[in-house]
Amino acid sequence: MQFQSITGQKETKEQLVQMIRHNRLSHALLFLGKEGSGALQLALAFAQYIVCKPQPAEVDLFAAPEPKTQDTQLKTTDSCGICPACKKSK
Ligand SMILES: [Zn+2]
Repeated sequence: MQFQSITGQKETKEQLVQMIRHNRLSHALLFLGKEGSGALQLALAFAQYIVCKPQPAEVDLFAAPEPKTQDTQLKTTDSCGICPACKKSK
């Protein structure tokens, strides 16, 4: 499950992503909410985001080299959904 498939809870999703980006993941998190609040889906999407290891794109030998920036080294705001770790977590 990916963050994009969860409706609402934008602030919570952003906070979770910021925790990872700032390397501030605590040892335990509680996702509390009434049935239908999306707490379970959020926990599953966050778990997938943590284990996601996006594969580098295939190298095109004839393409111009892309300049490396810090943004390319950071994870995106959602899991890729196609790497082996993501496929296992589905
Ligand atoms: Zn992935």
